[in-house]
Amino acid sequence: MFEQLSADARLAAAVAIERVARTTPFYAERLKGHGEPSDEASWRALPVLTRQDLFDNTYPRSTAMLSRAVERMMVISTGGSTGVARYTVLTYDEFDRFSDVQAAALALLGVGPSDRVANLFIAGSLWPSFIGVHEAIRRVGAVHLPISGNIPVESILRFCREFDPTAMLSLPTAFVFLADLAMKENMTFPSLRLVGYGGEQMSSEAEAHVRRGLGPQDVAALGYSSGDAGLMGYQCRHCAPGLYHWPTGFQYLEIVDPVNGEACPPGTSGEIIVTNLARLSMPILRYRIGDVGTFLEGPCACGDSNPRFRLDGRAGEDFKIGGAFISMKVIDSSLARFAGRVSLNAMVELEDIGGQMVFRLKVEAADLDDAAAVAPALREALCEAIPELAVGQKLGFITAVDIIPVPLGSLPRNPITGKAKRLNDLRIRQEEPK
Ligand SMILES: [Zn+2]
Repeated sequence: MFEQLSADARLAAAVAIERVARTTPFYAERLKGHGEPSDEASWRALPVLTRQDLFDNTYPRSTAMLSRAVERMMVISTGGSTGVARYTVLTYDEFDRFSDVQAAALALLGVGPSDRVANLFIAGSLWPSFIGVHEAIRRVGAVHLPISGNIPVESILRFCREFDPTAMLSLPTAFVFLADLAMKENMTFPSLRLVGYGGEQMSSEAEAHVRRGLGPQDVAALGYSSGDAGLMGYQCRHCAPGLYHWPTGFQYLEIVDPVNGEACPPGTSGEIIVTNLARLSMPILRYRIGDVGTFLEGPCACGDSNPRFRLDGRAGEDFKIGGAFISMKVIDSSLARFAGRVSLNAMVELEDIGGQMVFRLKVEAADLDDAAAVAPALREALCEAIPELAVGQKLGFITAVDIIPVPLGSLPRNPITGKAKRLNDLRIRQEEPK
């Protein structure tokens, strides 16, 4: 179903995009002094594209990255709240190609004409996911329930009870919230077969929680994708969570050592760099997507020859305490030990007060009194899982480790994407929200 290109054909397709890119003012300047790549090594010598490049050089601020006039196109926002959002444009034909591959990924998950699919993605604000998912559902011939994630959650649950969907599609943040509420209200969804998520990764703890709360047969990623580059990975039935096939006919994907830019061999993790093979109107050439991944060795049992990779997380989703990098995964597994009493939707807040740090974990909970009762044990579990917290308190550079229960749904969500903010590091200048 997915095109499977040989290594030579993939590079040739990427070089064809590079040729178009050179016709734009932005890339003409950027690629000065670089000849047309003739092999993978000379391809890797081309400069990478950063999020800042996209922010500075895209429509409506600039047309420097465009190879054609802004006509027969749609504008989409690719993350960030108002003021820091990046916008990109693509032609309707290009959007159709994006939708075709997304639909192929949906079909691989077994979604077809007999399904009733609840589209619970966020619509509006130039965000492409809701309409993109509409296109994918339509292409597989399923019955579309365009409910959206914008309306009050009580209304979402009411529509889902009324129409009894076989599949629900949304963000992990939204599913954790829906599962919290469904358990609180003792609600069940008898025909629900698939919970399909996109936009973020879902931790194994969150998946277990969603299975408990919503009771689907399957929980699967709709794909690994971004608004800028489209689908970058799809799952077959043999793909464990976090594993994807590379759609070689749609995307040129590299995993490189972030220090020297060399290609990482299978089994070695590095930064993911993508070149979309469908976008000619605004070429996306060697884009540093901000994720870390690892190619896997050998073929997949499904018979698809497109290589597989594992997504290892966001570059930069860790935070630092006393020189040590702490992964958000540690927070997830500590919260999971108190499943049912606190939600997995939680935010770490780090604040510097007079040279000393305060660590706060704000965690959503259905019953705030019950969550407050469990807070001391959660605090202890965190200090056990993160020795730097205990050491920091002993040495006096951390003055407090506070657990703060807050009502379900009350933690900040990105106004455009609906994703929960997981880290609020008040010690440093805030990164552009994803
Ligand atoms: Zn496979």
